[in-house]
Amino acid sequence: MSQKFTKQELYELRNFVPIDDLIRKLQIPCKLIEGYFRFLCPLCNEFRTATKPDTNLARCFLCARNFNTIDMTLICRRVSFVEGVAFLQTFYADIQKRKRRQAELEQRVKRMIKTF
Ligand SMILES: [Zn+2]
Repeated sequence: MSQKFTKQELYELRNFVPIDDLIRKLQIPCKLIEGYFRFLCPLCNEFRTATKPDTNLARCFLCARNFNTIDMTLICRRVSFVEGVAFLQTFYADIQKRKRRQAELEQRVKRMIKTF
C-alpha cells in the first residue's frame, strides 16, 4: 500500500475524532447503562464495552481488545484502510467546521452582551 496519509494525519484522526461521536456516526447501537456509555461490540455483539475519553479508545471486555477510531471504522464499514481513513477525514472536517461555527456564535453572543 502506498503511504497516502501522513503519520500526523493518522495521529489526529485517532486522537481528535471523539470515539463516542464516531460510534454514533457509524450507527453502532449504543446506550447508557448505569450512567456509562456502552456500545454493541461489532465482533461479539455484546454490550460488555466502554470508551475512554483520555485515550480515545473503545474497549470490549469480552473480546479483551481495544479499538481506535480507525479500527472501529474499518470493522464496522468493512472498507479498505484508504476508504476508512477517507471517511474519518470527512467526519473530522465536519467536526472542525461545527466547532468553528460554535466558536463564532459564542463570539457574537459575547459581543452582543458587551454592547448592552
Ligand atoms: Zn466484543
